[in-house]
Amino acid sequence: MHILSSHTEKTELQLLVRGLVYAPGDAHYDAEVAAFNLATRHTPDLVLSAVNADDVVAAVRWAAARDMSISVQSTGHGAANAITGGLLISTRLMLELSIDPEEQTARVGAGVRWRDVLRAAAPYGLMGLHGSTTDVGVVGYTLGGGIPLLGRKYGFASDHVLAFDLVTPDGVLRRVDAHSDPRLFGLLRGGKGNFGIVTAMEFSLFPVGELFAGGIFYEGSHAREVLAAFRHWSGSLPAEASASLAFLRLPDMEEVPGFLRGKFVMHLRFAWQGTAEEGGRLLAPMRAAAPVLVDGVGPLPYLRVDEIHADPEHPVPVHEGGMLLRELSDGLAEALLQLAGPDSTAPLLLAEIRLMGGALAAPLNGADPDGDCVGGRDAALSFFAVGIMAPQIAHLVPAAIAAARLALEPFGTGGTAVNLHGHLAAPELAASAWPEAARVRLGEAKAELDPKNLFRHGHAILPAARVVHAAVA
Ligand SMILES: Cc1cc2nc3c(=O)[nH]c(=O)nc-3n(C[C@H](O)[C@H](O)[C@H](O)COP(=O)(O)OP(=O)(O)OC[C@H]3O[C@@H](n4cnc5c(N)ncnc54)[C@H](O)[C@@H]3O)c2cc1C
Repeated sequence: MHILSSHTEKTELQLLVRGLVYAPGDAHYDAEVAAFNLATRHTPDLVLSAVNADDVVAAVRWAAARDMSISVQSTGHGAANAITGGLLISTRLMLELSIDPEEQTARVGAGVRWRDVLRAAAPYGLMGLHGSTTDVGVVGYTLGGGIPLLGRKYGFASDHVLAFDLVTPDGVLRRVDAHSDPRLFGLLRGGKGNFGIVTAMEFSLFPVGELFAGGIFYEGSHAREVLAAFRHWSGSLPAEASASLAFLRLPDMEEVPGFLRGKFVMHLRFAWQGTAEEGGRLLAPMRAAAPVLVDGVGPLPYLRVDEIHADPEHPVPVHEGGMLLRELSDGLAEALLQLAGPDSTAPLLLAEIRLMGGALAAPLNGADPDGDCVGGRDAALSFFAVGIMAPQIAHLVPAAIAAARLALEPFGTGGTAVNLHGHLAAPELAASAWPEAARVRLGEAKAELDPKNLFRHGHAILPAARVVHAAVA
């Protein structure tokens, strides 16, 4: 086991890399390890702010030679669980980005956010398969499968990866694609950061087209009618349309728009890539579902896609939990109302159901279902809950998230989406984020490809012999 890094170790690593190395107490250490989730405090022994793939190769070799654990952070959006000890490689300065308009592809470095891709691709009328906020990092999101805003039309983001540049635990930089190494390529798509550090990634882009999208807010007192309408409506919604519904209890804070401050509301999010006329026709039943507080759905310039979900723009302290659900049944609707409806006292900022299905349900073009490690193809909905870790309620929030998971368990698929799993109650429960077949392949591959379990932080699976077959927790 590695003991706390010394000044000598920092100097040793610094001599091998171009990026800067920081240790606890250094002026820039705190800024470099900071996560988007302010309730999570990473405390690695050393952090390297890598500037290129050579830095990552040198750092992985150096750490591996010392049996030092290695973790990676880009934007810190996935920081549900704290990283303690070892070497953290920060990729936020690895900002390579190029668009090939002819081939409709992009190549990005490990620090690039979706927002950067959209800005670079927009002049060519192209976009990529980002999620609810474009502030998230392209690589970390895609390694977790990546459930896109328009996922029901296009599938998972990881379905559209063409190649990874990956530094494996043995410190070798490899180009991994469907031909060079189909097994590793499949393990990376949905398998998260288990097999090394991706330094760059290539993937397909798609025409922007017309977007009819946005959000509708209803008073929370109408939660029951809105949920009933959503249930009926979403059952016949074409796969090309995406939607989610959130129970939102907003704090009385300046950052929250005036009309929402301190209120409990229902928030429908809708996205349709097509004409406003057709989108409006599809949305009509939800516009009539209950009195509307604000209707913000209409033709939307693609670069304003973040307005649809309106996720937080600045770091906040939160505790999160998610799971995948089978169908929006009577029982599930009732359970959702109980845990987050008007009479609930649970300290949940957000409880959201997102429609899965459509192109998310099947591997692309009938590809081998065991060809990747994505979870959620069997789910009708993804559930995600968030509580703010404000000092007055911080002691109540984790229990409220755990209670929500428990209440919805009878309606679950038994799995979670790795990107939307949230906090892990215990490291061995990370495996529940993958379908059984993927879980076995990942565990076996982990024992073989990362025998020292160097990449054990974040949402990491245990090597095969140690995998615990557990339910969601
Ligand atoms: C507000 C918000 C909205 C979100 N919306 C969606 C959504 O719509 N759909 C969805 O699928 N997800 C969504 N997510 C989850 C998000 O995709 C994951 O948290 C993802 O891990 C973020 O990646 P990151 O690189 O930005 O975060 P980081 O915290 O920097 O990284 C998280 C993890 O990703 C892995 N990772 C990152 N970079 C690398 C690398 N270069 N090599 C190997 N592993 C790496 C590591 O396991 C790391 O621990 C959302 C998250 C937030 C906070």
